Amino acid sequence: MNGIPCAVTADLNKYLARLDEDDRRDEAIDQRTDELLAGTEYSPFTPANLSEALGELDMTGIEALCKLLTAGNTAGAGLALKTLIGDYWERAARREAERQIDNEIANACPRCRGRGCRHCYED
Ligand SMILES: [Zn+2]
Repeated sequence: MNGIPCAVTADLNKYLARLDEDDRRDEAIDQRTDELLAGTEYSPFTPANLSEALGELDMTGIEALCKLLTAGNTAGAGLALKTLIGDYWERAARREAERQIDNEIANACPRCRGRGCRHCYED
């Protein structure tokens, strides 16, 4: 075509396809994480989940809360608590979303990687 060796073009195309796939994976994981956080299993503020996250607070978080409460900063302590509990469940939801999406990718149609093609529903 224009002097670029085919092997280079092929490598470039493979690289670009890979980037595109990584983007799609990241987007899918973000979306699944949000869905999980909206459901009862990963919602930070159900009694069972709040209780679990409180039990899992690390020393850094506990010390920050103690400092704020000792200083009488109950609003700050509430905000810190909300962030700590929210982060705990966000991490848990993201781990589960990654597991689910990677599983879906592994089982996707090898020809189109799940984009939808006439081979998707064969065999
Ligand atoms: Zn397909």
